[in-house]
Amino acid sequence: MSGNGRTIYIAGAGIAGMTLALALAKFGATVVVLERNKQVQDVGAGLQISPNARHILNRLGLDKGLTTRAFEPDGIDIYPYGAKHPLVTMQLGRAMTDLFGAPYAVMHRADLADLLHRACKRFANIDMLFGVRAYDVVSHARGISVTVDEADGKSRSARAFAFIGADGVNSRTRTDVLMGPASTYSGMVAWRITLEQSALEGVVAPDRTSVLFGPGFHAVCYPLPYRKQFNLVLFTKMSREQALGGAAPKTPQLPWAAAPSPRFKALLAAAGDNWGFWPCSTVETDDWYEGGVGLIGDAAHAMLPFQAQGAVMAIEDAAILAPLLMTETGPEGALRRYVSLRRERVAKVKKLSASNGFAFHMEWPLTLARDAVIASQGTRGHLKRLAWLYGYDAAPDPATPPPRTVRSGAN
Ligand SMILES: Cc1cc2nc3c(=O)[nH]c(=O)nc-3n(C[C@H](O)[C@H](O)[C@H](O)COP(=O)(O)OP(=O)(O)OC[C@H]3O[C@@H](n4cnc5c(N)ncnc54)[C@H](O)[C@@H]3O)c2cc1C
Repeated sequence: MSGNGRTIYIAGAGIAGMTLALALAKFGATVVVLERNKQVQDVGAGLQISPNARHILNRLGLDKGLTTRAFEPDGIDIYPYGAKHPLVTMQLGRAMTDLFGAPYAVMHRADLADLLHRACKRFANIDMLFGVRAYDVVSHARGISVTVDEADGKSRSARAFAFIGADGVNSRTRTDVLMGPASTYSGMVAWRITLEQSALEGVVAPDRTSVLFGPGFHAVCYPLPYRKQFNLVLFTKMSREQALGGAAPKTPQLPWAAAPSPRFKALLAAAGDNWGFWPCSTVETDDWYEGGVGLIGDAAHAMLPFQAQGAVMAIEDAAILAPLLMTETGPEGALRRYVSLRRERVAKVKKLSASNGFAFHMEWPLTLARDAVIASQGTRGHLKRLAWLYGYDAAPDPATPPPRTVRSGAN
């Protein structure tokens, strides 16, 4: 599709920013991505990508790369605290593809970032600026003015049709440009580590995801065969002062170390003390845009990661916003429509993520009722319960953007 002379600036070359850049470039936009880091993210840990995001990534040309680098677990083993065997194995694998038309996969976050970056580099109309020191955005009647302090100390000023903040949970676009709120610390932190594949032999299934519940904490692990690694994340409570005040311990503190869970103990023994640490914060605001400045991904709606949907929602945001930015008469109309299409769904996913945390961290005897419900849903209950989530297609036909007339070439 040919472009209409529109230039879109995006802050952040994360999953949201690069997906949006790609989707816009396919519609012919001129895209400039501003990233404060010197390169795309090459650290991090695992990421689960459900069919609702995979459809979008496939259409952006990433299917082959994803098939190589991602892994499709057979199912999710659910372990109540101290359980010797899984309470249930929730089906993924073929069941997901058969029902929702795309795989449910896990992969290393840096591999997805790399695939997106390689795809962006193939478009002459995407300009990625790394090491950006600062940017200013001014919205006025005839569009947006952007000034960027680049890595080499030079400054560039330009006019743009829209400016999209995809700059994550602590988004400057949200707090400094739109004057929105700071993120809210949840009281939970994520301890993340990748281990050699062999390190968890006999502890968890090598071809499935494992979720281990505990009183006030839980762990998630899954294989990353492309890297011959296992991804392990442990979520624990931590005070705000410790988590955000630089006083966090170097390894998870285990008040429950003596409690009866050999599997937890084995996981921790395998992990050693090389953990990465990430405070889990959310973003609570309804103001996702003003004029031609908008927010997507974590910048707009960071959520607790307990349904593994934060990045997936960012990908959906990008798929919906891109055609609107290219077809609506003005940026404000595009952003208004984007928000109206996204708000309810994202709120529902956010609520689900929070309520999962509540269920995962229950203490006895509430766990008895929880486990009875999980067992009663069996191996396929989640496929029906979450069909609204996984069966959603944000942009069914990318060749046909939403039916609005394209008028003047804006800037
Ligand atoms: C432990 C854990 C596990 C998770 N697991 C999953 C999962 O399995 N599936 C899933 O879908 N989601 C998962 N999530 C959520 C997911 O990581 C986020 O929702 C996702 O990364 C958001 O992407 P984003 O592009 O919006 O933000 P980010 O990934 O944070 O990217 C923001 C980018 O903006 C850049 N930036 C920031 N400030 C500036 C600035 N001022 N100027 C220029 N650039 C800037 C950053 O450097 C970064 O590159 C998980 C989260 C956690 C903590």
